[in-house]
Amino acid sequence: MTGPAAHVERDDPRYRKLARDFRAACESSGTPCWLCGQPIDYRLRHKPGKPIPDGAFEADHAKAWADYPHLRLDRANLRASHKGCNRRRGKRPADDLQRELALGEPSRTW
Ligand SMILES: [Zn+2]
Repeated sequence: MTGPAAHVERDDPRYRKLARDFRAACESSGTPCWLCGQPIDYRLRHKPGKPIPDGAFEADHAKAWADYPHLRLDRANLRASHKGCNRRRGKRPADDLQRELALGEPSRTW
């Protein structure tokens, strides 16, 4: 048998609760995006049938979701991010993107 955190997917109720709690904590403290350093508009919500805005909050995984499955339920591995920054990072180490953003990419369009 594998450990309790194995095979955790994003629709796992344990993960959904963790992500919800994490978001609430970030929202109440106004935590900025850890990738670009800019504030997050926590009012941007996911609406059914609409694409999620790039500026919306997403829980990023400091150690990538895909590469560290045993950390998927580890709250200490979560970071507040913009959806757009999170997607841009993909599976790269976060400091790759942080460096890229610090080098002055064309300004964001959202
Ligand atoms: Zn960002």
